[in-house]
Order: sequence, then C-alpha cells, then structure tokens
Amino acid sequence: MPIGIDGYFCTMLDYIVVGIGLAGISFCETLEKGGKTFKVISDKSQRASQVAGGLYNPVILKRFTLAWKAKQQMELAMPFYQNLERKLGVTLDHKLPVLRKFASVEEQNAWFEAADRPGLDHFLSTTIQQNNNPFVDAPFGFGLVKYTGRLDTASLVESFTAYLDQKGILDTQSFDFSSVEHHNDHVLYKSTKARRIVFACGYGLKNDPFFGYLPLNGTKGELLTIKAPGLKEDNVIKSSVFTIPLGNDLYSVGATYKWKDKTNEPTEESKNELVGKLKNFLKCDFEIVGHVAGIRPTVVDRRPLVGQHPEHKNLYVLNGFGSRGVLIAPYASNQLYQAIETGAAIDPEMDIRRFTEKYYFS
Ligand SMILES: Cc1cc2nc3c(=O)[nH]c(=O)nc-3n(C[C@H](O)[C@H](O)[C@H](O)COP(=O)(O)OP(=O)(O)OC[C@H]3O[C@@H](n4cnc5c(N)ncnc54)[C@H](O)[C@@H]3O)c2cc1C
Repeated sequence: MPIGIDGYFCTMLDYIVVGIGLAGISFCETLEKGGKTFKVISDKSQRASQVAGGLYNPVILKRFTLAWKAKQQMELAMPFYQNLERKLGVTLDHKLPVLRKFASVEEQNAWFEAADRPGLDHFLSTTIQQNNNPFVDAPFGFGLVKYTGRLDTASLVESFTAYLDQKGILDTQSFDFSSVEHHNDHVLYKSTKARRIVFACGYGLKNDPFFGYLPLNGTKGELLTIKAPGLKEDNVIKSSVFTIPLGNDLYSVGATYKWKDKTNEPTEESKNELVGKLKNFLKCDFEIVGHVAGIRPTVVDRRPLVGQHPEHKNLYVLNGFGSRGVLIAPYASNQLYQAIETGAAIDPEMDIRRFTEKYYFS
C-alpha cells in the first residue's frame, strides 16, 4: 500500500475535485452516479454560485436567439436538479415564466419573427402578454419565454456542502498546488492518492499554475435583493435588468457586468446603477435588503473550458461557465466524465485543446 507524504498509508481514490460551486457540485454528482470514490477540497475564495440569480432560460433576450446548446443542456439539467432535490431534501427549482419587456412595436415584430424559427418556436410564446401590474411600466407588453425558472443556487451550495461534510469527504482548505506529486497512473496530494484531479475553481483558476494559461477573463456581477410589498409580481421580468421573485415580497435585481474590478466586494457604483435601471420601470416603493457580488468565470470565446491538461494527464479542468452556469454545469460535467471514463470526445467547442498552443507558446 502506498505511503502519503505525511507518512500515512492511503488507498487510491478515483478523483479529487477542487471547488464546490456549480461546476464542482455537478461533477461530484456525476461521480456518485457512476459509483466513483472521491474527495472534495474547496475554500470560499470565489462565490459566483452562492450569489447567482440562478435563472435558467434558453433564450438570449437581447437578440432573441437560442443560447449555445441550450436545448440539449436543458434536457439534461432539469432531471439532474430534480434528482439533487430528492437526494438533499431541499427545493431548488422554482419554475417561473420569464417576461421580456418590449420597448416598441418593432421589438414585438422581431419577437414574432424569432418565434417562427425552428428551435426557438418551442420556447417563445406567440401571444403578447399585456401588462396587468399597475406598478410596472410596460406599455408595449411582454414576450413570454416558456420552460424557464430559478434554481436556488445558494441553497444548492449550502446543502451539497453539508452533504459532503456529513460523508466526511470535504476538506475546506485552499488547495496547495505545490503539494501535487505527479505519477504515471495517479497523483499524490499530501496524504491523498487519486487517479485524477478535476479543478473546478471558477475564477480561482487565475491562481492555478496548471490551468492558469487558459484565457479566463472573469466578469464581476452584482445583485440587489429588494423588498417591495406593493409589487405582487409572480413572473421574472427582463427590462434593462432582471427582477426575479423570491417570495415574501422579496425580489432579486440584477445583474451588473464589470470587467476591471475582480473583487467579490459589492460597490456603491453598481448599487446606484441597478437602482437607476429599476426605477425606470418599477413604479412602487422598495427597500434594499441585500447586495452581493461575485465573479463569473467568463472566457474569451464564450465557451466552457473542459478537458485534460496538455502535459499532466491526470489533471483536468471544468470551468468557464460564464453567465449560464445553471444550464451548462450538468452538461459539461457529463461530457468530462464520459471523456475520462469511456474515451468519448469532448465537444470541440469546449475542449481546452483549442488553447493548447497557448500552453506551449505563451
Ligand atoms: C451576480 C451573478 C449573477 C449570476 N446569475 C446567473 C444566473 O441567473 N443564471 C446562471 O446560470 N448563472 C448565473 N451566474 C453565473 C454562475 O454563477 C456561474 O457560471 C457559476 O456559478 C460558476 O460556477 P463555478 O463552480 O465554475 O465557479 P464558482 O461558483 O466560483 O466556484 C468555484 C469554487 O472553487 C473554490 N476555489 C477556487 N480556488 C480554490 C482553491 N485554490 N482551493 C480551493 N478551492 C478553490 C471557490 O472558493 C468556489 O467554492 C451569475 C453570476 C454572478 C456573479
């Protein structure tokens, strides 16, 4: 039996997973389904998954187009989160229609044209929704997107963390990259021996000496929680911001997109930006009761970063979900798992082999 660096005997795990956001959770869940052994190491340096609005919506509402692979992702994601609800005993999926506010008759027409296109026709309602809410300014009404909702990502992270902790397979420290020993058919991390490590660190990838060559940008986002007892709105409304009903007269409002600031601190500037946009269409009093921020792991070409390290064959990455982590996470996790365990090809659009040159030449 092998001896770990701290002198203890250790058995071989199938995987170490680093990071417990949407990426890490989805991969762990896929491992459990496959009967694999694993351990998770995660700190709290990144918080995109805790603060996310959690919307799942297959349509890009700026351009009325279908998001990348949205239909395939939804088919996988919905049963995936239902299973997690059963397993963790929590409600995660809140089904909510998304209403896209129209700014003009031209936009209404563009919506109808889009609703005729194959693929989109499944998701876009062809009836204009009139505005019945006296506290919402929407004279041209709304377009309704079907099969949408909000995943309570904060509850998912909290309950999955507790689940792993209870199983005794969670280590809540920062991963020490210098403690990885590479061997032919395994890696040794301190006293843990595993066949593979999967790094699912979100924007934390920037501190990863193995995968830090990948072109992850990171886009900061901030969200407010408001209390608006008069509003009584049950739909998600997309105007210049999203307003997402949370229950008990609370609504999530956001989000901002900032490219320079890479901290997780909420700012006064973004708060003012969101309040300004909100006041353009909300005609009732509200109180701000929460304000959070996080970094979306966004990628230069807007595709996930999934695959095997060019040199260290036991190391893998699962990252780059941008602003669509809820839908992408189960899909990308499944692709990575199938690639490792069955040799299936990873979708070339998300396979990190598209950036191999950067590893050797930058
Ligand atoms: C304001 C905001 C709103 C959003 N709204 C939506 C939305 O409505 N719908 C949607 O689909 N997506 C949304 N997103 C995007 C979504 O949150 C992300 O795509 C997703 O959460 C990324 O998950 P992740 O697991 O890759 O990263 P993260 O959630 O950042 O998780 C990474 C984990 O790895 C840990 N970690 C990092 N480095 C280390 C290390 N060295 N050692 C140990 N642990 C480490 C971190 O602490 C963290 O726990 C939003 C994001 C933001 C910021």
